[in-house]
Amino acid sequence: MPAETSPALPFLPFALPEIGEEEIAEVVDALRSGWVTTGPKTRQFEGDFAAFLGDETRGERVHCIAVNSATAGLHLALEALGIGPGDEVITTTHTFTATAEVVRYLGADVKLVDIDPATLNICPKAVEAAITPRTKALMPVHYAGLAADMPALLALARKHGLKVVEDAAHALPTTCEGRLVGTLDSDATVFSFYANKTITTGEGGMLVTRDDALAKRAKLMRLHGMNRDAFDRYTAKVPSWYYEVVAPGFKYNLTDIAAALGIQQLKRAQAFYEQRCRLAAAYDEALAGLPVILPPKGRPGHQHAWHLYVLRLAEGAAIGRDRFIEKLFEQGVGCSVHYIPLHLHRYWRDRYGLKPEMFPHSQHAFERMVSLPLYTRMGIADVERVARAVRVALA
Ligand SMILES: *Cc1c(COP(=O)(O)O)cnc(C)c1O
Repeated sequence: MPAETSPALPFLPFALPEIGEEEIAEVVDALRSGWVTTGPKTRQFEGDFAAFLGDETRGERVHCIAVNSATAGLHLALEALGIGPGDEVITTTHTFTATAEVVRYLGADVKLVDIDPATLNICPKAVEAAITPRTKALMPVHYAGLAADMPALLALARKHGLKVVEDAAHALPTTCEGRLVGTLDSDATVFSFYANKTITTGEGGMLVTRDDALAKRAKLMRLHGMNRDAFDRYTAKVPSWYYEVVAPGFKYNLTDIAAALGIQQLKRAQAFYEQRCRLAAAYDEALAGLPVILPPKGRPGHQHAWHLYVLRLAEGAAIGRDRFIEKLFEQGVGCSVHYIPLHLHRYWRDRYGLKPEMFPHSQHAFERMVSLPLYTRMGIADVERVARAVRVALA
């Protein structure tokens, strides 16, 4: 390690959650209460989340259904929409495998499409070209926290009679044309509270919908297809032992221990968002003029949640992406890549005979992209340190 790279600085990891005393106290309260699985804290978290989104959207009540992961929420949404064998669901190749795997859980097929290189989000033109008579649904991902082109995608869905399930794992709080993701005109929206997301419950997710029938089915399938959950049976006036199984459901409920974390994290979501914006702006300033492409920005009315800060090395950069990441690591800076596109993973490649040439924009972006550390426990000095390491690596 060169002497000038400050070996005294501790390693700066790629991601860290911010858990405060309020979260710890709320979790302890759940632990002391005697009720640790789905119960009052989960109900409160669902209610708080609905309030965060505005309770009602254009006169319709918002249902918030807490689940033990976003993956579970995506699965429940597609199941409730009746997706099954013979159906096709279109999503972006530039995502985490969870977005696509849930389609396969249901025996339906995944049609992966390319991204718009300007936004790194799913390309509506590519979506339109991929629609067949078997297509039943679209799954946009709000990549990095920037909303996908929802007006174009929703117009396509209306024209072709398709359902829309938004993967909003990165998108709390993201807006599209001034409206919060979670209140748009899709059928369902799913948020993630995984450890590195903008708020966390350790593991967890929230399925949001204004479709009463979808909500009813998802709540049933969240817990074994039983028509009463344990807390309902515990608190009800009728005999507590009786319930009926009406479908082969799943085990996707959130614990009250996790929901306790969520209640307090959600209160901080706006402050977290503001800190992420400050850090992203500091990166933009510190990295200006280097042979890199800075992350795409939201247009007015498109608030970027800044879950990820994704840099791309410019054509003229003197170094490749893999070596660049090694050089940052040597200087004590962790980073990551979002994502190794699905078309390069063995399962997706082999099942659908995919080739990189089918996804030129995703492939090109992948080969030169790196996600820099961006989390609320960082300060501006950390951003400046990362920017110095970037400059050294590019020199
Ligand atoms: C994190 C993530 C998921 C899965 O979220 P879990 O809560 O871990 O299931 C899905 N899609 C995207 C784009 C993600 O980043």
